[in-house]
Amino acid sequence: MSDCNDADQALRYRRRMQRKKEIVDAAIARADQTKGLLLVLTGNGKGKSSSAFGMVARALGHGMRAAVAQFIKGRSDTGEEAFFRQHANIVWHVLGEGFTWDTQNLERDTETARRGWAVVQNMLRDPQLDLIVLDELTYPLKYGWLDIAAVLEDLQNRPSMQHVVITGRAAPQALCELADTVTEMHDVKHAYRSGVMAQKGIDL
Ligand code: ATP
Ligand code: MG
Repeated sequence: MSDCNDADQALRYRRRMQRKKEIVDAAIARADQTKGLLLVLTGNGKGKSSSAFGMVARALGHGMRAAVAQFIKGRSDTGEEAFFRQHANIVWHVLGEGFTWDTQNLERDTETARRGWAVVQNMLRDPQLDLIVLDELTYPLKYGWLDIAAVLEDLQNRPSMQHVVITGRAAPQALCELADTVTEMHDVKHAYRSGVMAQKGIDL
């Protein structure tokens, strides 16, 4: 009796997976385009920058060339920077001067962001660069240090096969509309709120 039930269950499972495979195969067959993607990783939850650096690792693993531009952040002691700087196919720019609540100077923050964007504009004109990460770019947009229309125009005019990943909370609507892939990290829980400081290897 139990053997019959097992056989029945196995058959039902196989049929279900066959149907699922047909649906998955059809969806894969429909996705036949190749292009440089614009990805936005936003939201309050942890995982935006670390996801972007995961894509950098993937790209470098394929022999592609990558660039990282970090807005806001002024520190150069992160594990990701130490690790990726050892790689020949990556350029790394720390373009920030620290958090807005530390600088407390609108004119200076604006100037820093504009200088940073000039560096990024050169990257966006370089077809040799396969993947660009613009870490925390959402803040210069949110605070108006950079003109969003001009930034979107530069992004649209980049080489057609170049991928760009933008991270940061509160991504502007217009940026999300232009993007091909948008992920919102949802904050369910964070150790920081239980009093745990940023941990090496996890947070920096
Ligand atoms: P990560 O770099 O770990 O992927 P992130 O890019 O999503 O994080 P940021 O907003 O850039 O997040 O914040 C960077 C730092 O703040 C990291 O140390 C991260 O662990 C921490 N952090 C992220 N989300 C939260 C949160 N909801 N509460 C407290 N700290 C957070
Ligand atoms: Mg981040």
